[in-house]
Amino acid sequence: MPLDPCKKTLNLLARDRLCAPSTGSSRDYDYAVIGGGTAGLVVAVRIMENPSVKVGVIEAGQNRMDDKQISTPSSYPTLIGRPKYDWCMQSTPQPSAGKTYSMPRGKALGGSSAINYLMYVRGSRKDYNSWAELGNKGWGWDDLVPYFRKHQMLNIPDEKALLEDKQFMPHAAREKYHGGDGPIHTSFNDHYMPLEEDFCKAAYERGPYGILLVSCSSRSLIRSWKSILRCDWVSSTKSASEEPACFDGGLRHEDLFDEQGAAGVEFSHSRKLHVVKANKEVVLSAGVIQTPQLLELSDIGDPDVLQKAGVKCVIENKSVGANFQDHVLGGMLFTLLICLEHPLSRGSVHIASSDPMKPPIIDPGYLRHETDAKILATGLKWLDEVSKHFLVAKSLGDRVLPPPENTLETEEQRVEYVKNHISTQYHLMGVAAMGEVANDRLQVIDGKGQVIKGLRVVDASVFPGHVSGNIMSSTYTVAEKGADLIKQEDGQFGSEPGGGTARL
Ligand SMILES: Cc1cc2nc3c(=O)[nH]c(=O)nc-3n(C[C@H](O)[C@H](O)[C@H](O)COP(=O)(O)OP(=O)(O)OC[C@H]3O[C@@H](n4cnc5c(N)ncnc54)[C@H](O)[C@@H]3O)c2cc1C
Repeated sequence: MPLDPCKKTLNLLARDRLCAPSTGSSRDYDYAVIGGGTAGLVVAVRIMENPSVKVGVIEAGQNRMDDKQISTPSSYPTLIGRPKYDWCMQSTPQPSAGKTYSMPRGKALGGSSAINYLMYVRGSRKDYNSWAELGNKGWGWDDLVPYFRKHQMLNIPDEKALLEDKQFMPHAAREKYHGGDGPIHTSFNDHYMPLEEDFCKAAYERGPYGILLVSCSSRSLIRSWKSILRCDWVSSTKSASEEPACFDGGLRHEDLFDEQGAAGVEFSHSRKLHVVKANKEVVLSAGVIQTPQLLELSDIGDPDVLQKAGVKCVIENKSVGANFQDHVLGGMLFTLLICLEHPLSRGSVHIASSDPMKPPIIDPGYLRHETDAKILATGLKWLDEVSKHFLVAKSLGDRVLPPPENTLETEEQRVEYVKNHISTQYHLMGVAAMGEVANDRLQVIDGKGQVIKGLRVVDASVFPGHVSGNIMSSTYTVAEKGADLIKQEDGQFGSEPGGGTARL
């Protein structure tokens, strides 16, 4: 099935729903969502299912819904590093991983989903169960399945487009685990190189895998991944009468606090300050770099960090901006890559200035924990062995990287190689972790667990631990559940349809 070019959440907001900053800031909203990205737009759309609830979305990037570069999945590498699409931020130098890394983040309606490559992958049952085991009630795999299903529509391609061995293309548990009428259309590719199936077979033989391949989550599976075909959020919004407001260029935000908690957002556009009032809540969905930045600029965070940046600390929570994690790709062998799915290293994102126009300091902490390089090195050895399996070797030429003279025989050789050949997989998460910065209702808390009224975080920042696989599906799931939590407390939503519970 060909990839539908209409692929992104950008469909969410038709042109006539966008408005200028001056128009938007003259209105009062029940909910002000900061960041019209992957999670923020889902939250806005779901809340708008009740037309009497007023939602304003504040997005710094532009609406590029008609831009072919954005709607063509393979063009994503060309968007990285271009200020038109990307915030173009850099990491600090990484002493354990050789250099400074570019940290692309989408700056457009749709956020990072506007510049990503649309792989649709879920983490494992164990990954989400570990979120619940950390004390986050309601965030285990069984709790989240309805929200995975709610956003998804799985399209199974024609029989002839499927891989010959169906166990490498699992959709057997479709009814139980996959959605049939959600706005995110997912499917499998319609074309495979023979090498892909050969690689799966060789890897399965090499092991260690003793489990059934047909499943719905990714741990310990060898399989081909699904990708997103198109997004259809517009159909979810059609009953909403209140327009969300999207403001191009909003960069400065300070949550306005009154004695009741967060009451609104201040932002600047064309050097003019605007204020948006939120009668019920401010929802922070600015993504993993800017969500902690905005919390810190709003006087919430680690007193030492805030003091150094010249910001007074009003609400102390030392975990703001901590627990940064990313998937690290490493060990290029031919065109084969391995990925560190559960890094032990932790990084951080913190402001260094009270000036909201200055990007925060991003320290991913790549390979800071020495075990991470050893895990990647072990993966490299495994990959080397699989590449020598006759099924795979017949399709590969001579190895170029690592150079043939690097025999990869000793762990030292492998670690040394890995340390100088990693890249980000763009799966940043964790800087406003559930249990630390947000409670299990995603409300922002102080260091003692006290809820800050009227302020929630709903984006990839709240993941407490990493998941195996690309994280956009988990971000949609967090957003769907976050929206339901908001609706449950709002009191203006019934239980169905689109009320406080996900469809089962
Ligand atoms: C290049 C790239 C490729 C990727 N490929 C994949 C993939 O194939 N599959 C996958 O599953 N995941 C992929 N990811 C990861 C995935 O896209 C992200 O994890 C996910 O989109 C993050 O969603 P989010 O809602 O947390 O943040 P975002 O989608 O980044 O949304 C944040 C939004 O907030 C806005 N914003 C930020 N600051 C402000 C401010 N001060 N004022 C107003 N607005 C603001 C931003 O402009 C943005 O629109 C990729 C990421 C990148 C960057």
